[in-house]
Amino acid sequence: MTGLAAAGAGPELSVDLLIIGAGPTGLYGAYYAGFRGMSVAVADALPAVGGQIAALYPEKLIYDVAGFPAVRGQDLVDRLAEQAWRWNPTYLLGHGVTRLDETGESIVATTDAGARITAGAVLVCGGIGNFIPRELPVGSEYLDRGLRYFVPRLHELAGQDVVVVGGGDSALDWALSLESLASSVTLVHRRTRFRAHERSVEQVHASSVRVLTPYEVEKISGDGTVSEIVVASSDGDRITLPAQSVVAALGFIADLGPIEQWGLELRRRRILVDRTMRTNRERVFAAGDISDFDGKVSLISIGFGEAALAVNHIAALLDPACSVTPGHSSDA
Ligand SMILES: Cc1cc2nc3c(=O)[nH]c(=O)nc-3n(C[C@H](O)[C@H](O)[C@H](O)COP(=O)(O)OP(=O)(O)OC[C@H]3O[C@@H](n4cnc5c(N)ncnc54)[C@H](O)[C@@H]3O)c2cc1C
Repeated sequence: MTGLAAAGAGPELSVDLLIIGAGPTGLYGAYYAGFRGMSVAVADALPAVGGQIAALYPEKLIYDVAGFPAVRGQDLVDRLAEQAWRWNPTYLLGHGVTRLDETGESIVATTDAGARITAGAVLVCGGIGNFIPRELPVGSEYLDRGLRYFVPRLHELAGQDVVVVGGGDSALDWALSLESLASSVTLVHRRTRFRAHERSVEQVHASSVRVLTPYEVEKISGDGTVSEIVVASSDGDRITLPAQSVVAALGFIADLGPIEQWGLELRRRRILVDRTMRTNRERVFAAGDISDFDGKVSLISIGFGEAALAVNHIAALLDPACSVTPGHSSDA
């Protein structure tokens, strides 16, 4: 991999296309731009590629990506990265892009880790922006010492007593995925009703997962790392549970962050694009969850199509002799 970590002096580089965001849309865009003959850099604020999939649900099975009857989130990310590799894009991971300045025929992007990337065009695949987990009101001192907001690798929790906190899809998914691996799984939710999909709620009730509702986490304790958690109900009932891991799945707050300052026309906290995926700035395109147009649907499969559409129009923008319509990849 050609990769530039955030540490050290910020690099200067010049490419045909800068892709902002290494989620599924950005990774597929990187493949496609390489296929169209462009040099590509991909910047992401997170330290790893994969966007929401890698950060929020790497172990979940995804059923609606063409060609995969079912695919584990992280496996899809690995396949996308492998596909993009063919054209050797430069990755700037841990680089949040803060500015996009126009300079004649190019755009200069600046990152919070000090990189400057000069690009003929920019494709913004920033998803829902930076996503920050909603914090558990207690126990923050145990963060990464038993308390976690994401579970990138399920097997790390094998054999442990795990308490999952939350009532949405992620909480129930983690509880169900951990059931067969962990020594025990307890699901704690402050309301009686779950927000999660009905089928998941039925599965949880039919499983060995212990369900405690309506309970809230009152205290997390342990000597350096989590060993115990106290949950309390509104009528004062208290239960102490052994726990080496507490997974707080309380949702996340999405924040577009610097993207809002780039002079792009926004609607519903997304970037408005035309039918070529171009924004109101000539050299800036957007695709994936971050783009908006009438009839928009946010799905991985649709992000792939939007990325390919954007890149084909960017090819013609960068070189007017280039056709928007590509040849077939099977001929490459
Ligand atoms: C629990 C869950 C389950 C889901 N299941 C499905 C499913 O089954 N099928 C489906 O089709 N979809 C599903 N989705 C939705 C799917 O994950 C998204 O549609 C998809 O991830 C969007 O991809 P993206 O690349 O556009 O954006 P993202 O995956 O959000 O990636 C955007 C990337 O941009 C980066 N970024 C943002 N701003 C900047 C900046 N200024 N500088 C640098 N980097 C930046 C972020 O760090 C992030 O890595 C699910 C989502 C969740 C949360």
